[in-house]
Amino acid sequence: MSQVFIIVDHVNGEIAHSAAELATFAGRGGEVTAVVFAKDGAELIPQISLLPIQHILLFKGIDFSQFSVAPAAQVLAQLVLEAKPDALLMTSTVRGKELAARVAVKINAGIITDAIDLDAQLVATQSIFGGSTTVHSRVIGECAIITLRSNSIETTNFDDASNSPDVREVVISQAQIDPVYLRDRVLSVTAAVSGGRPELTEAKIVVSGGRGTNGDFSMVEAIADALGAAVGASRAATDAGWYPHSHQVGQTGKTVSPSLYLACGISGAIQHRAGMQTSKLIVAVNKDPDAPIFDLVDFGVVGDLFAVLPQATAGIYARKAQ
Ligand code: FAD
Repeated sequence: MSQVFIIVDHVNGEIAHSAAELATFAGRGGEVTAVVFAKDGAELIPQISLLPIQHILLFKGIDFSQFSVAPAAQVLAQLVLEAKPDALLMTSTVRGKELAARVAVKINAGIITDAIDLDAQLVATQSIFGGSTTVHSRVIGECAIITLRSNSIETTNFDDASNSPDVREVVISQAQIDPVYLRDRVLSVTAAVSGGRPELTEAKIVVSGGRGTNGDFSMVEAIADALGAAVGASRAATDAGWYPHSHQVGQTGKTVSPSLYLACGISGAIQHRAGMQTSKLIVAVNKDPDAPIFDLVDFGVVGDLFAVLPQATAGIYARKAQ
């Protein structure tokens, strides 16, 4: 059985839901250790204990969120050299990928980023070139470092309260970190204005609007709120200034892989597909029956989004009220 370490992300005292996904992947063929970096971490242990894992390793003492990933990378590289896990998994966030890269360089390990699947033999699956090519690859060497996209797997055992992993806490002081890694400090963090909606790359449901909205995203937002979804946009919409660039889905925007992707007034250009093609269920509303997006969908509605979306939104609320 392989030894797999997963990095548990957290914010404001809550672990990211991607932690359960990493644990599920890791548990396919391995004994799993959840590694977490936190100033104190006491509030995180009960949450992590619900994951399908065997061990928890908490590095505490430093507020790692106040620095770039460099201090965590130093600690993690040392851990991997000492504990020699077969794999180290983290989420494909900007921070996760930087952490993975830094650790890989330090320990001379192979790295695979943006995987959407991982089997028990640590063979990773990536969807590349706009989803037109599927790659299966494996790191050769002592420790495989792999970042996995959120929402790539249904989680297991997340609510299994009978799980009781052992917990090891290691106190780290700033004196143990190379001073050069402490030079970058996070001075302030401003949360993106999301109107209470989930983060785009983590959301289970994404509703995106394109040029077909003609700049009016109110109906896209309304159905997103009815579904508890994040809002995305095509580049045509973001370039026009109709929606922030931070919400752009596609080759030069964010990559999403939700359970449901609803494309509204989006033609389905290859560059847009590149960011959403791995969604589990794709639904589109487009008034042009020949729009390329319909080649991709599981369910398509040929119609004017200004007529279809309000009806669908009303239908969702009516169903919820039943
Ligand atoms: P359009 O292609 O203009 O499609 C609008 C659609 O809305 C049409 O199909 C139309 O039938 C439909 N429509 C119009 N009115 C209605 C209505 N009332 N109701 C229903 N349907 C309606 N694009 C991205 O999205 N993301 C990227 O990351 C990205 N990166 C790019 C990178 C490069 C290097 C390049 C060259 C391009 C990139 N693009 C990207 C742009 C991409 O090629 C397309 O131009 C863009 O995706 C088109 O956006 P759209 O589908 O909203 O607009």
